[in-house]
Amino acid sequence: FEVQIGALPMPDGSGPNVVLFLRDLTAARRLEAMRVDFVANASHELRTPLASLLGFIETLQGPARNDGPARERFLAIMRTQAQRMTRLIDDLLSLSRIELREHVAPTRIVDLGALARQMVDAQAPLAVERGVAIRLEAGEGTYPVLGDPDELLRVVENLIENAVKYGGRTVSVALSRDTDPRRGRQVVLDVRDDGPGISPEHIPRLTERFYRVDVASSRQQGGTGLGLAIVKHSLNRHRGRLSFESVLGAGTSVRVSLPEHPGRDDP
Ligand code: ADP
Repeated sequence: FEVQIGALPMPDGSGPNVVLFLRDLTAARRLEAMRVDFVANASHELRTPLASLLGFIETLQGPARNDGPARERFLAIMRTQAQRMTRLIDDLLSLSRIELREHVAPTRIVDLGALARQMVDAQAPLAVERGVAIRLEAGEGTYPVLGDPDELLRVVENLIENAVKYGGRTVSVALSRDTDPRRGRQVVLDVRDDGPGISPEHIPRLTERFYRVDVASSRQQGGTGLGLAIVKHSLNRHRGRLSFESVLGAGTSVRVSLPEHPGRDDP
């Protein structure tokens, strides 16, 4: 607690009263600790590829100066490390932009069905490369929500990409409608995979910045550990909800629900 003592003049002009202010600082301290943690994590994540780049530069200037094949190999690794840093910086910037806008409600009507279709098509090459089949299940009509199309596209992209990267052989992207007793009509997007699943103790932490279930596998997949944090903040802005259901050995299902815009034009 922070304690402050002040004097408050009385409205009737009688002598000042002494007032004691007690302010609960727990939340403020926790926020400050999270900020410090975040800066430390981000610095560490940037430092790792940077250290590797410096090491290769020194080797290329010294022992490997005249070794043609080694040069090619090292340059390829350096390129991967530089790409990793670029992705990390892009994700950090996206996250801070989304946080800045978090309290500004989006105003455009967006068809979540069209976005999902667009993303399923865009992810097809990655899926083919990994031998994963993606299918889209959507009913008739549109799935209108109030949203920022770029941000929602990114949400769908992150979820499909995770399902392809960490999942099994098939990914299904399904759209449906639902009525929630408290939140009213919702548009629901489910991204399901038949991969190894996520054990329950990790689930509540998945949307934390830099949280990964398996750091090595995330790095190998080119992950930054920021994807689901970006998804969560975007959904806050859209009054959306995110939930995970996962069974070890059977697969994971990630659900996004967003308030349906009443201007639906389907039957
Ligand atoms: P990353 O950049 O590492 O993919 P995310 O924030 O998108 O970061 O995801 C956090 C972690 O959650 C991932 O590193 C991975 O361990 C786990 N994860 C996410 N989606 C899935 C999934 N569909 N199946 C299994 N694990 C997943």
